Amino acid sequence: MAVQGQCPCGALERGGEQFRLKTSYGHLAMTVTYEQALSIVQRRIDGAKPRARTENLPLHQARGRVLAEDVTADRDLPPFHRAIRDGYALRTADLTALPAVLRCVGEVPAGRSFGAEVNSGQCVSIMTGAPLPAGADAVVMVEHTRSLGDDIEIAQSVRPWENVVLQGSEAALGARILSQGRRLWAAEIGLLAMVGKSAVAVFLQPRVAILPTGDEVVPVEQRPQWFQIRNSNAMTLAAQITAAGGVPVQLGIAPDRKDALREMIEQGLESDLLLLSGGVSMGKFDLVEEVLAEMGAEFFFQGVAIRPGKPLVFGRVRGRFFFGLPGNPVSTFVTFELFVRPALEMLGASAFEPPVFLRARLNKPCRQKTGLTTFMPARVWVQDRDPVVELVGWQGSGDLVGIAAANCFLVIHPDQTELMSGDWVDIMPKGQ
Ligand code: AMP
Ligand code: MG
Repeated sequence: MAVQGQCPCGALERGGEQFRLKTSYGHLAMTVTYEQALSIVQRRIDGAKPRARTENLPLHQARGRVLAEDVTADRDLPPFHRAIRDGYALRTADLTALPAVLRCVGEVPAGRSFGAEVNSGQCVSIMTGAPLPAGADAVVMVEHTRSLGDDIEIAQSVRPWENVVLQGSEAALGARILSQGRRLWAAEIGLLAMVGKSAVAVFLQPRVAILPTGDEVVPVEQRPQWFQIRNSNAMTLAAQITAAGGVPVQLGIAPDRKDALREMIEQGLESDLLLLSGGVSMGKFDLVEEVLAEMGAEFFFQGVAIRPGKPLVFGRVRGRFFFGLPGNPVSTFVTFELFVRPALEMLGASAFEPPVFLRARLNKPCRQKTGLTTFMPARVWVQDRDPVVELVGWQGSGDLVGIAAANCFLVIHPDQTELMSGDWVDIMPKGQ
């Protein structure tokens, strides 16, 4: 049994027969912390340097995709000294004594240019978005002026270049404005349009196979018997995959039988990433790790000190990464947000982005057992300018009703046993 590499959890990185250690004792020994698990995911996927293929898309179809080229400015931004107020373009040297009276020699609306130079003692009526005429070095706002026929009385002084954005100050011609790996949302798409990119190269989206397991699980369209459960996880995961920039591939439901499970895992390995749900706990019919190990999988961890989601598994088999997500619907949801989403970002050639925790004030005291990073469904709202967070009632990791009522998770760290009302605590947004 070969050790696959060095990591903070050394022995956990062995492949082969490790699954056999997942007894009540072995499971404990193989559990990594939340932070270790995140860094293992990052290091493993980064180390594999997945090379995504690219395609060219019209800009309006590129939302949510990852840029596959570096993009430079094809002109200065702004392309000219741009007025950002309606008013009068003038020479600030003319404003030594106030009020000053200047002769208005013309007008320059946005979309035009003023042909002549503004000389001393002169001003030009200018609109927001218009290029500053030569000779002028500032714009005084129309609110601070009075019209006296052909002359304009200026009541307030301006500094040189006030109410003007200098040519090239946002980006100079040839400067890189977006780098490969950047995910394209509205602002980035607007910026690409600004430099004339009507089509862009983007990476192909990673395909993510979804394999729910369990003899009790039936398709959503089927009426379940009283002892059966609808396959909600496959739907939750598909929605999360889509939101994270992947393409979900539904494989159907695997029964708790080794031969069938193996066959369906093989199909899943045609995708870029395989997500299994269920079958990773310590029950008699939790066969996922055993089957994967028989197929030669390496396991990078087989348990994380989090709640919900402790039995989470991450590894690689035949060159494909996989996650074995615990089957409880909330565990599946949370472990995706914590670990699969960042993994998917990297497989899609975007940068690794770990979950970001924000801060809010707890409105009721709360206790927990030590040793785990806990994610409790909660609601956050603003009260007297502070974000305030309150737990929503829930029945544990099977309770999607509780999750649906939440808009965030309260994050309780392993060393926090008792949280007081009014404490600043970490929260994680729920995701989409
Ligand atoms: P397991 O991780 O296989 O022990 O399953 C834990 C719990 O999650 C059980 O109550 C299962 O019935 C439930 N579960 C497993 N798979 C799914 C699924 N695809 N959709 C909804 N619930 C599931
Ligand atoms: Mg099961």
